[in-house]
Amino acid sequence: MTDGRDMRLETMLIHAGEPSPRIAGAVAMPVFQSSTFEFTGQADYHDIRYIRLNNTPNHVVLHAKLAALENGEAALVAASGMAAISTTLMTLLRTGDHLLVQKCLYGGTHDLVTKDFESFGISHSVIDVDDPSSWKEGLRPNTKAIYVETITNPLIQIGDLKSVSAFAKANGLTSMIDNTFASPVNFRPLDQGFDLVLHSATKYLNGHTDIVAGVVVGSAKLVETIKHRLDHFGGTLDPHACFLLHRGLKTLAVRVRHQNQSALKIARFLEDNGAVSRVHYGGLESHPQHDRARDLLSGFGGMLSFELQGGAEAADRFMQRARLPIVAPSLGGVETLITRPATTSHAGLEPDERRRIGISDGLIRLSVGLEATEDLIEDFAQAL
Ligand SMILES: *Cc1c(COP(=O)(O)O)cnc(C)c1O
Repeated sequence: MTDGRDMRLETMLIHAGEPSPRIAGAVAMPVFQSSTFEFTGQADYHDIRYIRLNNTPNHVVLHAKLAALENGEAALVAASGMAAISTTLMTLLRTGDHLLVQKCLYGGTHDLVTKDFESFGISHSVIDVDDPSSWKEGLRPNTKAIYVETITNPLIQIGDLKSVSAFAKANGLTSMIDNTFASPVNFRPLDQGFDLVLHSATKYLNGHTDIVAGVVVGSAKLVETIKHRLDHFGGTLDPHACFLLHRGLKTLAVRVRHQNQSALKIARFLEDNGAVSRVHYGGLESHPQHDRARDLLSGFGGMLSFELQGGAEAADRFMQRARLPIVAPSLGGVETLITRPATTSHAGLEPDERRRIGISDGLIRLSVGLEATEDLIEDFAQAL
């Protein structure tokens, strides 16, 4: 197997983890669509070569590539982003434990922590990732972990992430970060002292809007413990989905770099348009955390959100008139997607609650795809 640790990210995407010598000379990693493999004397249950135990050749190769990309010792893929997140949290926490989470979490994670975990006796407190001086107040004797996201949805905020990992170390907590929006092209949390990185690989890592998958990366010891739990919970990624994720990953750097550039141009265009009242994008000088984003990230990503002067009605009209973006949830693929969080991801919140966290009814979220930037801008100009 090619280790790839000495390579640059673009090269790792192509070569890290690949079998050496190549299997039957195949340049692309073949799919091993076999549920079980001949017994060769494995002593440990978790090493038996069986599809649910996350160790088919497709899993092994993908784990090595993902670990190299995030600069971790080990990686594990799961059947979805939520399978990776829930299995990881349920490996680190048990009944009676307490968790610190950032305000405005991804909807699925928010519901997992506030609804499911409460019923298991795992409690949480919400912290403002922008204000480290307030975090101590959230600590309890039973606090075990801290959980944040690199770039928040849908307001594209970038918290004080360096302080998060330092705070976790100082207080004996395990630090976890959902790096879905940034991808390892724009941010590598383990290099900033985080213990575990999580991804919905459904988004940028796969990038082609055709599978659901999740990833966790960290120390070999932690990832092995999480793997054992995943072996039992059964949220295993199918080898065919492994194959597709592996294929998608190879173009991650070219996709994300294009999306970084395109999103910045679109954000600037929107900011200069009189019909737009506000643009949320870390690459804009007007973004309140622009300096921090520049310090932490090597690119600002392909996600942005904006508000129109005319509020919700104008937002609806804009979405009807825009021809290129597809009105659909999810993100990180080759197609530009557009949503109104008040009617989709955050529809479950009371209007007051939405306003309190800064999500106006007219807010539009954009996941910039790989179309020509000029075509997108021309389309947005006519729609505005
Ligand atoms: C989509 C998403 C998830 C959940 O991932 P699934 O693959 O849908 O299970 C978690 N976090 C973030 C930031 C996401 O965008």
